[in-house]
Parts: sequence; C-alpha cells; structure tokens
Amino acid sequence: MPIEQTLSLIKPDGVARGLIGDVIGRFEKHGLKIRAMKMLHLSLDQAQAFYAVHQERPFYDSLTQFMSSGPIVAMILEGENAIRVNRDLMGATDYRQADPGTIRADFARDIEANIVHGSDAPGTAKAEIAFFFNALEQV
Ligand code: GDP
Repeated sequence: MPIEQTLSLIKPDGVARGLIGDVIGRFEKHGLKIRAMKMLHLSLDQAQAFYAVHQERPFYDSLTQFMSSGPIVAMILEGENAIRVNRDLMGATDYRQADPGTIRADFARDIEANIVHGSDAPGTAKAEIAFFFNALEQV
C-alpha cells in the first residue's frame, strides 16, 4: 500500500468544543503520523480560497463564514493509504449517515459544523497541503 500524505483540519467547532486531543488521538491510534501541525484563524478570504471548489454550492457563504469564525488546527497526516484511512476515521459528510465510531458520528450535530476536514484524493491532498504549509514547516 502506498505511503501517502493528506491534509487534516480540525474545524472551528472541533477546536471550540475541546476535541483537538480526541481527534488527534484517533489519528495516532490508527497509525497516521503527524508531519506538520499548526493552529490558525482563517480570514473569510482565505476560507473562500480554500473552498473555491464549492463556490457554486448554496452553502458556500455559510461554510466559509463558519470556517473563518474561529481557530482551526491544520495537520499533515502520513501513512499507508493515509487519504482513505483519514476519510474512514472522519465518517460521512452528513453525521447522520456516518458509520458508528467515526469522528463525525460521535461528535458532529450539524452537516456543516462537522468537526474535521480531510483531503479526498492525491491531487487535492497535494494542493491543500501546499495551501497551509511551506516546505520548512514539514518534518
Ligand atoms: P467532506 O469532504 O466530507 O468535508 O464534504 P464536501 O467536500 O462535500 O463538503 C465540504 C464541507 O461543506 C463539508 O465538510 C461541510 O462542512 C459542508 N457541507 C457539505 N454539504 C453541506 C450541506 O448540504 N449544507 C451545509 N450547510 N454545509 C455542507
């Protein structure tokens, strides 16, 4: 299985609700290594740029306001099949359809404020990692 890197974000609701340790603990327990990590507070412009792929969606304004509403934690996760492993740990976008035991099933109570973001493919992982981290910040 390929060693991959993926971008993980703990969204403003996850940080505000004190879930940083729980979320990171799940990643580490499942063999994902943290290769870079920082806390930051996105501006609205930055959130709009990050989610530009969704700009035609009806929830784009709400999503980007939410993502710029408070601090987030950004991480590069690395491991075998890291993109899939992270997505499996996160659970479905809509917490009501997420498998039991996933982060979103356990903690999310809203389709938008759903605790975590994770890249969905190698191309997006590369672009999203570059959005948040420069080469010096990657261990
Ligand atoms: P993800 O890859 O599972 O995060 O899901 P998507 O890429 O489809 O959507 C990005 C983010 O937009 C999700 O994580 C949610 O925060 C938000 N989102 C997705 N669908 C909806 C929706 O129907 N309504 C609202 N308000 N937000 C949504």
